[in-house]
Amino acid sequence: MRAVRLQGIKDLRVEEVAAPTLQDPGDALLDVTATAICGADLLPYWGHVPGFEWGTIMGHEFVGVVKEVGPGVSRIKPGDRVVCSSTTSCGVCCSCRRGMASQCENLALFGFSGAYPKLDGGQAERVRIPNADRVLWPLPVEVSDEAGIFVADILSTAFRGVERADVRLGDSVAVVGCGPVGLMTILCARRLAGQVIAVDTVPSRLETARSLGAIPVDASGDAVAQVMALTEGRGAAAVVEAAGGVAALTSSLKMVRGRGTVSVIGAHFEPDFPLDAGLMFANEITLRVSIGSPTDDREQVLDLLRGGVIDPTTIVTHRVSLDDAPEAYKLFEAREATKVVMTP
Ligand SMILES: [Zn+2]
Ligand SMILES: [Zn+2]
Repeated sequence: MRAVRLQGIKDLRVEEVAAPTLQDPGDALLDVTATAICGADLLPYWGHVPGFEWGTIMGHEFVGVVKEVGPGVSRIKPGDRVVCSSTTSCGVCCSCRRGMASQCENLALFGFSGAYPKLDGGQAERVRIPNADRVLWPLPVEVSDEAGIFVADILSTAFRGVERADVRLGDSVAVVGCGPVGLMTILCARRLAGQVIAVDTVPSRLETARSLGAIPVDASGDAVAQVMALTEGRGAAAVVEAAGGVAALTSSLKMVRGRGTVSVIGAHFEPDFPLDAGLMFANEITLRVSIGSPTDDREQVLDLLRGGVIDPTTIVTHRVSLDDAPEAYKLFEAREATKVVMTP
């Protein structure tokens, strides 16, 4: 079968590899019908994941049709059209039992190794799914394959980010970072907020944010001042930080109003952060961090899709063959592509 494997820094190859087989009774084999490139895929691509094993098949955002299931799989059946959660979770550990799949003690991320136990991903014709009854979820007939991909990770992550921001009807919500996850956050926040303010430095991203109903703020100027001006000097009731990095979090904490919440879904790896505890205390700011937990949130997210409340496919800019993955990664890395969907 064909699969996209990372063989070194920026050395992505579409190669002929042995098709996966069932290894455990709880496994399923999934024939991938659509898969996307995620910002997280760029971390190993850039060589930023210590211990990443070259040759790992990439991809954690995919949907497909179940080909075969092991004897321990009871809920998922061959022929089911399903979305796969970006991470596995066991369902029986202390975290899973408390509904915290993203903190599963046996977690693995598809298309990764090093940071997690190696698990080949879905940028391939076929992929092995451990613990399939839990990791896969049937797609309702109203939800297209392309829309379903977003449930695997970025729309579910945005959903959690907005939920954890305690957004109330009519609030001003600032979204810091308008990459794909930030754009998904805008789509979710727009269902509740009085105004959504989109903060980024990339003109094309701000333009997309505007088309989704947000007020664009160019962060190459003073973003905090602009958010203050848009909120009568009070700041946003909720800020969802979807950019990652010290600068984005620092400005997020400055643009939230008193008693407001900063909900972080951007990726952070810096071990230290200059937190202004005095500001946090004086303004009674709540700070929350979420990785995203599609296994916990997918049913609600799918309800938003099947009801037509949100259409994430509007941000898809490129639809290509899996064979075009190396070129697609380059476009995505250069931010010339907002979201790339590949079909085997
Ligand atoms: Zn992702
Ligand atoms: Zn678990």
